Amino acid sequence: MPELPEVETVRRGLEKKLKNFIIEDIKILRSSTIAFPKNKVEFIRGVNNSKVGKWQRRGKYLIANLKKYSKSPKKNINPPYEDNGYLIIHLRMTGYFNWITTKTPPCKHTRVRFFDKNNSELRFVDVRSFGQIWWVKEGLDPKEIINGLGSLGPEPLEKNFNLSYLNKEFSKRTKSVKSVLLDQKIIAGIGNIYADESLYEAGISPFREARTINNDELIRLKNSIINVLKKSIGSGGTTFSDFRNIEGTNGDYSMQANVYRRAGKKCKKCNNLIQRKKLSGRGTHWCDFCQK
Ligand SMILES: [Zn+2]
Repeated sequence: MPELPEVETVRRGLEKKLKNFIIEDIKILRSSTIAFPKNKVEFIRGVNNSKVGKWQRRGKYLIANLKKYSKSPKKNINPPYEDNGYLIIHLRMTGYFNWITTKTPPCKHTRVRFFDKNNSELRFVDVRSFGQIWWVKEGLDPKEIINGLGSLGPEPLEKNFNLSYLNKEFSKRTKSVKSVLLDQKIIAGIGNIYADESLYEAGISPFREARTINNDELIRLKNSIINVLKKSIGSGGTTFSDFRNIEGTNGDYSMQANVYRRAGKKCKKCNNLIQRKKLSGRGTHWCDFCQK
């Protein structure tokens, strides 16, 4: 499942490849992928003839600014575009984009296809079909249309992800520290892989009650999260999973997981075996000796 580093990698790929991409045609192969507006004719009419501008990321959401050809361009304004809201995507479990410049027939998991006038294509493929696409038209607030986006906690790589914030959030929670890390309302963008890896690097057991984490441990955890995410973004964000970027390639594997999917293998610090157990439904990997 793509997490912050993977989604950031996709964002960078989209920004690089879709410079001046103007959507001239849209084919929706699976209606349920379009989350808003529910009416797919409205979606297609709304998004068509839009130029895709800057891409942002918030948590695991991808957000593109759209500009539409103005039907009645005001004089002296060049180019004749007007703001046309946002195209927003959540990849969920298995969604990914493919950037296609030579005609290729869609695979059976293709859900939505965006074309420009040269028939270059931005293709959204999603095996499990949990991925979602929204068009939030100009004047509407994306945070109000998309609940998950409106309730996101701070970005781990931004300033408001700091010790006093973490102290406040952790000290009032009895659930496990790992569950807190996975809660998008508390911290945006962390999923199973980076939760396990950050806790290992910080030497903290995933099963500890969040409120029992002391100040020094919280400093270690905060630094580990930042470090693990930055390293992974730096190596293409696709190192730990089979996730592909928009050009269909994987990360460079320069960074190997320490615990994730390493159950039964030796811990790189102490040589004891990495354990695996389910915690709130998620496979959790840790070293019983190194993580207290
Ligand atoms: Zn160990």
